[in-house]
Amino acid sequence: EGADHRPRGVGGRGRVVLFPLPFQGHISPMLQLAGALHARGLAVTVLHTSFNAPDPGRHHHPGLNFVAVPDAVPESVAASSNGLAKILGLNAAMAASGRVRDALASLLRAADEPRLACLVLDSTLTAAQKAAAGLGLPTLVLHTGGAACFRLFRSYAMLHDKGYLPATESNLRAPIEELPPLRVSDLFDPSKLPNKEIGQKILDLATETTTNSSAAILNTFEALEPHELETIRDELVPRGIPAFAVGPLHKLATSSSSSSTGGASAGETSLLSADRSCIEWLDTQAPGSVLYVSFGSVVKVTRDELEEIAWGLAGSGRPFLWVVRRGLVAGAGEELVELPEGFEAAVEGRGKVTEWAPQQEVLAHPAVGGFWTHSGWNSTLESVYEGVPMLSRPIFGDQLATGRYVQDAWRIGVLLEGVLERGEVEKAVRKLLMEEDEGAAEIRERAKGLKEKTRMSLESNGSSQQAVDKLVDHILSL
Ligand code: UDP
Repeated sequence: EGADHRPRGVGGRGRVVLFPLPFQGHISPMLQLAGALHARGLAVTVLHTSFNAPDPGRHHHPGLNFVAVPDAVPESVAASSNGLAKILGLNAAMAASGRVRDALASLLRAADEPRLACLVLDSTLTAAQKAAAGLGLPTLVLHTGGAACFRLFRSYAMLHDKGYLPATESNLRAPIEELPPLRVSDLFDPSKLPNKEIGQKILDLATETTTNSSAAILNTFEALEPHELETIRDELVPRGIPAFAVGPLHKLATSSSSSSTGGASAGETSLLSADRSCIEWLDTQAPGSVLYVSFGSVVKVTRDELEEIAWGLAGSGRPFLWVVRRGLVAGAGEELVELPEGFEAAVEGRGKVTEWAPQQEVLAHPAVGGFWTHSGWNSTLESVYEGVPMLSRPIFGDQLATGRYVQDAWRIGVLLEGVLERGEVEKAVRKLLMEEDEGAAEIRERAKGLKEKTRMSLESNGSSQQAVDKLVDHILSL
């Protein structure tokens, strides 16, 4: 009988609650998914912690309802410099405080609301999944990395059995025959971390939440990772867990409508406000001439590496836009990073340094000809969508496998491996942006080809839009 009284239009079909891991690279895709589900007529509530909470002033998401889950991250955890420890601390705090359970229980009780169908959670949030299970609420898991990474993280037992791990000096270059084109050096090896147990536990979280879920949602698309998605489905579907490839999420909600080129984004999802002068500066540069350089929101480089990057960029002779965010240099705190002496004078008029760029707009700008990235998954998809060739310098975790795919599977960029050295940086940057170089021209062509495939997957009959339709049907069937 309740169904007859449900409001028509948005939310009339039911409500979902979403809970992202509170880091930039996880918040953005979850909010973008929220936008897409809302556009399909679902009412959407987003749970968030006070740590890295969305700013209501800037993150106005019409139609999304935000609910704070206070004290889910205690001060001691928020202050830790170890991101992996933060994730475990967050789960422990959530389990102890019972706040997530309370928030979910109150949403389930709200009688005048559309029926709450499920919780969509970040793949690392085991404690939130347990809270939902205790209330009989089904869960779906959002994987904010690629399918290759998803598959890799589920393969660690095999990698140990076959002797690829723990990695040794002598097997680092060895190809992993079961997971081409990966090599041993592309594996995230928990035994190399100062705290091995944390590393292994983190790897296990996504496997646990997936096993206990009603579906896996992946921020990738069929044409990008067809074989990886097939293996994942071979494993999950017989267990009753469908896998929906709905990416790239940053363009999902806007692309199905009339505006297939650019247009408004799914809403502001950046925690920091971006420096608009980057775009004005790009407007003054020649088409395809600029290297955009950014290492995302989390990873750090050493002071020595910063010096090599700076002098490599200076030596390349190419224009560049470089994001040097606070906290980028390991051990230097959250202060504004001091650039090497003489650097600014050396690159005057040719280089621009900023603390935080409007990255999607930068990558869409015609002046940008290449992207030096840490191969974070969001950055990679944003670059793929715009057809910008990449110089990959992965640092940690799934970035290593993504960098390998950029160079050897999709062949839309080059991998910068080994110790960072200014001479090598110079060469790599020049080569990537060089008009006449045959290898670089081929990379540019392939990047353009993949850009087309990406846009096709987002058209109204494209694979990702169809996957969202099926996802919504699945949610409503729960
Ligand atoms: N980003 C941005 N401005 C910057 C640098 C990064 O908006 O100056 C955004 C970027 O567009 C991407 C996110 O931050 O969406 C970084 O996510 P990614 O998965 O690439 O890396 P992570 O930060 O998680 O390592």
